[in-house]
Amino acid sequence: MEKKLHFNSRVIHGGQEIEKSFGAVMPPIYQTSTYAQSTPGVHKGYEYSRTHNPTRTSLENSLANIESGKYGLAFASGLAAMDAVFKLLKPEDEVIVTHDLYGGSYRLFTKIFQVFKLKFHFIDLQNIKEVESKINNKTKLIWVETPTNPMMNVVDISLINNLAKSKNILLAVDNTFASPYLQNPLLLGADIVMHSATKYIAGHSDVILGALIVNSDKLFDRLSFIQNASGAVPGPMDCFLTLRGIKTLALRMERHCFNGKKVAEFLLNSELVERVYWPGFNSHPNHLIAKKQMNDFGGMLSFVPKGSNFRNAIKIIENFKVFTLAESLGGVESLVGHPASMTHASIPKKIREKSGVVDSLIRLSVGIEDYHDLIDDITQAINS
Ligand SMILES: *Cc1c(COP(=O)(O)O)cnc(C)c1O
Repeated sequence: MEKKLHFNSRVIHGGQEIEKSFGAVMPPIYQTSTYAQSTPGVHKGYEYSRTHNPTRTSLENSLANIESGKYGLAFASGLAAMDAVFKLLKPEDEVIVTHDLYGGSYRLFTKIFQVFKLKFHFIDLQNIKEVESKINNKTKLIWVETPTNPMMNVVDISLINNLAKSKNILLAVDNTFASPYLQNPLLLGADIVMHSATKYIAGHSDVILGALIVNSDKLFDRLSFIQNASGAVPGPMDCFLTLRGIKTLALRMERHCFNGKKVAEFLLNSELVERVYWPGFNSHPNHLIAKKQMNDFGGMLSFVPKGSNFRNAIKIIENFKVFTLAESLGGVESLVGHPASMTHASIPKKIREKSGVVDSLIRLSVGIEDYHDLIDDITQAINS
């Protein structure tokens, strides 16, 4: 029944049921670590909250539903969710990854999993020939991020999926930037979808939480085993906050996309701006792929002010009054960031500049305020 509802309804009802004891419409925050048993092993479905918790179950069902998947798994953070995915692999296995990716993901791969002898190939996933050339019999996983952070490149998920399936390689997609409103990688063939629910899914900058969504029973069994055995699970309060955020995901995304377009077009037409990166422009190199696999173009964009260097980019960033200078994205409030010194500081300068993350690049997470105020703020920040 739920699958037939539209997305706008699924964010509210998908995978949810009315609580049985008192008819609570929202799942209660089951703030308990353990559950009574009548005799060893006999209980009402819950034993210990690292393994399962009813508030977390509600969230996991909601996450599965809004990503059009069979199973959802919630983690203490987006990186904890990724950590679980890479524990599916073993030493000497190889992974193909986009070279233009979230700095924390790069750090996890190079500083943690490389030490355990996983091998990562950081390449341009828009170049399918290059992807093909890196595949060998040790390749076990392709990790896609699209649109990419902060360059807003778009990777063709179906195209990569065809290649991955023909070689029996798992395909995982970090869908954080798009959110399930804009893009559903499982429907394009991906095996695993990962989210930093900290961003658009929870949407209010008040929680850190990660998610994985899968269709395969076998993958779900292995990932739930890792979730419990490694133990990076979110608490019930954070699950509740995320569920609460999901209720308005569709409404918020509609406004993020509307405002994102207004701000992107304003920057494109401004004489004070040299370049704008936003997949909604006809001139964006991957615009057609974005149109094919996304429902809209989102509220994330990056730009380079004209003739600027590290110092005046920082000065512009400090001038913002409505946009807050902060890490993160996807919340109701607009944020501005400086990738080279913030989110991408853990990527060596040479590597990050190769993908376009220059010292003068400014990233915006366009919120849901009135767009006139956002455009006024950008204007005064660049001019003063
Ligand atoms: C924030 C982010 C992550 C990491 O998620 P946390 O919840 O901060 O651990 C991973 N990928 C992308 C694209 C992100 O923006």
